[in-house]
Amino acid sequence: MNIDKLIRKNILALKPYSSARDEFDGDNATFLDANENPFGELNRYPDPYQKTLKEKLSKLKGVDSNQIFIGNGSDEVIDLAFRIFCNPGVDKALTFSPTYGMYDVSAGINDVELIKIPLTTDFQIDLSKTKQYLKNENLKLIFICSPNNPTGNIIEEDSIKNILQTFNGVVIVDEAYIDFSASESWIKMLTEFPNLMISQTFSKAWGLAAARVGVLYANSEIISYYNKVKPPYNVSELNQKAAVAALNNIALFEENKRIILSEKETLITSLKTLSLVKKVYPSDANFILVEVDDANLIYEELVSKKVIVRNRNQVIDNCIRISVGTPTENTLLISSLRNLFNTH
Ligand SMILES: *Cc1c(COP(=O)(O)O)cnc(C)c1O
Repeated sequence: MNIDKLIRKNILALKPYSSARDEFDGDNATFLDANENPFGELNRYPDPYQKTLKEKLSKLKGVDSNQIFIGNGSDEVIDLAFRIFCNPGVDKALTFSPTYGMYDVSAGINDVELIKIPLTTDFQIDLSKTKQYLKNENLKLIFICSPNNPTGNIIEEDSIKNILQTFNGVVIVDEAYIDFSASESWIKMLTEFPNLMISQTFSKAWGLAAARVGVLYANSEIISYYNKVKPPYNVSELNQKAAVAALNNIALFEENKRIILSEKETLITSLKTLSLVKKVYPSDANFILVEVDDANLIYEELVSKKVIVRNRNQVIDNCIRISVGTPTENTLLISSLRNLFNTH
């Protein structure tokens, strides 16, 4: 597959901004080149290529540093995909609904049509419905969220493989929740599929949603276009340091994940005992999709008790999405649900 052919012509031709740190990136020098203030703590521009963070991720994930892009959250990773691959008003992207809302918003901002193919009743990809779109030469980008938000399930490996093999554009597998899943990341398939991109984040299992650090794994050619298009200092020094600190404490990451997964099982068991709960969907993530008898009513009642869940009724009939909280928070949720209609 020729990746260059998929890149927008203006991006191929683009001469990227050359920052002071592009032109000299050594240390232990007298830096009078970036118009920084010589005084203070956060006075210097951050490393534009986040080398320390990438070296750590490279070791952890078994990929080269040049196969990693760090974004200002996954939001930036998604937005840049549209800007690199899709000509506004001409090219199209595709995803499987219901799924993460940012694909649609980002497509809209970039004036790209997003084709939405409904997932099957068990929230898997319907290949027979998908096939007809894959040959469209204006289709450049496919988003597959796995584990999917808001349904919580992993997308079957064979479906993703089938798409990777037959589609002539790029496929982004959004693995924001992969660390909560028993399934393996698609990172191991990068060498097999040059059109595969995997997006992960520090916002969920790593507990750094406030820091805004998203990660893209792809072949080095795709990463080089990301580097060309990104704002020069897209990830702040504070955010890079926060991500590095998290990676330096894998034990804490594992321990918090263990608690969240064990709490999830407790929550599922408790939810199933409630009469207002119609169905608890299986979850490969840190949230649970729950069908209730009246999602709008239950959502509002919980809000009145200051317990906030995500009402997904607009997306999946009478479903709410519940993030797994601390043991105390989860107990509060269950007791609130139990008492909901006793208080009237
Ligand atoms: C939460 C989430 C993200 C994370 O986005 P960030 O911008 O990195 O915080 C990405 N994808 C999906 C599907 C999510 O649910």
